[in-house]
Amino acid sequence: MEKVECLIIGSGPAGYSAAIYASRADMNPVMYEGLQPGGQLTITTEVENYPGYPNGIQGPEMMNLFKKQAERLGTDIRFGLATSVDFSGYPLKVTIDEKHEIEAESVIIATGASAKWLGIPSEERLNGSGVSACAVCDGFFYKGKDVAIVGAGDTAAEEASYLAKICSKVTMIVRRDEMRASKAMQHRVENTKNIEILYNTETDEILGDQGVDGVRVKNNKTGATHEIPISGFFVAIGHNPNTHIFKDFITMDEQGYIITEPDSSRTNVKGVFACGDAQDKVYRQAITAAGTGCIAALDAERFLSHLKALG
Ligand code: NDP
Repeated sequence: MEKVECLIIGSGPAGYSAAIYASRADMNPVMYEGLQPGGQLTITTEVENYPGYPNGIQGPEMMNLFKKQAERLGTDIRFGLATSVDFSGYPLKVTIDEKHEIEAESVIIATGASAKWLGIPSEERLNGSGVSACAVCDGFFYKGKDVAIVGAGDTAAEEASYLAKICSKVTMIVRRDEMRASKAMQHRVENTKNIEILYNTETDEILGDQGVDGVRVKNNKTGATHEIPISGFFVAIGHNPNTHIFKDFITMDEQGYIITEPDSSRTNVKGVFACGDAQDKVYRQAITAAGTGCIAALDAERFLSHLKALG
């Protein structure tokens, strides 16, 4: 069985930042990149709010730079997915791609989160052909066209405002009679001329063969359905943390976000640290993820030094 001092699972801003710090602390980190190397930023376009890039930078390019920096400092970055863990004893056991077993002295969880989907067949069929979970990534393709967005949280409100600047009309599909988004965001969408909000409304089916040409919505109070012609359908109904493989060992909240000790990245399992969106449902920014990745590497380093001092 392969033995590793510091195993990092996940390769978004949190994972790479942990890798940079762990490499510089001579912890010989090994990183498994997961299903989406580079994480969620690889499906966005321009990042304008990460300090140090005065002219902005494309998300995939930024992640490539993070990766290069981690590699240059000595992180062993590998393509592969952690498929199961056994944290019942120590050292910690992690299985990659269902076959390669690793014994780790410390594990940094940086597995991030993924967009939630409605789960209707037409959404799956047209995913990538007019159906998207990222307005910022794909809004551009619908310049001057009509689109719809489902969701009523801050993300949906923010993305509806973003789309309204590019598209001719945005229909917002809200399942209850009110939004969950902050009052400020609600006011913003309500006061945007080309956003129409349909309350008490659910998505029955997304229409179209090769691409999206409409959506059939249903009023859940009256049962009435009607079709709206659109070219793009956006889903903004929240995210799920990618933490299911840890659920038998790691303490999480009811949504699956890992609970860490206050002012640290320590989980309930000795030697296991968590950072980024896997443990943050509030801020979810590249910069905050990178910050917690740094914290996780510092915590892991202290843990390993303490262990060595004990002999
Ligand atoms: P939220 O969980 O806050 O909202 C999800 C929304 O999607 C809810 O309105 C929910 O409806 C709706 N929804 C869920 N499932 C379905 C479904 N199957 N069909 C239709 N609608 C559905 O997620 P967000 O991503 O919006 O936000 C996550 C966190 O990030 C929040 O804490 C938010 O405040 C924060 N955030 C802050 C921002 C900012 O401050 N600038 C920007 C973006 C996010 P219902 O209300 O009926 O449950």
